[in-house]
Amino acid sequence: MSLFGTEPLTAAYGRKHMTLEEAQADFNKDKDFQTPSGRYTNRSDLAKMYPHLERIRVRFNELEDTGYVLFKSELKPEPEPKPAITTPSDEQLGEWMFDGVCEAVDGCTVEPDGTCEHGSPSWLLQLGMI
Ligand SMILES: [Zn+2]
Repeated sequence: MSLFGTEPLTAAYGRKHMTLEEAQADFNKDKDFQTPSGRYTNRSDLAKMYPHLERIRVRFNELEDTGYVLFKSELKPEPEPKPAITTPSDEQLGEWMFDGVCEAVDGCTVEPDGTCEHGSPSWLLQLGMI
């Protein structure tokens, strides 16, 4: 995809980048940059528009120089691993059966034969007890 009209980016709102490192730091913080056509954009927007882009040109040093800032220089931390799902006890399952209210496998509250808004079935459904 062409980056014509999108790069080189410049710092927006009167911010200045004297070095490429400063530009990269602001890019990492998702601060706004301006495109040659005057649009405001930032790393998240660009990453959405150009999912495979690894770097983009920016101007710095009073717009004298250009260089590349990298999309992957500061990867967001991986999401926390979900805690291992533990199957509810028979006693708990019995209660749910009896109460008419059940827990879905993702922890939502659902009807015993229901599925929550996230598409997770109740434990009773999941375990084939209903
Ligand atoms: Zn849910």
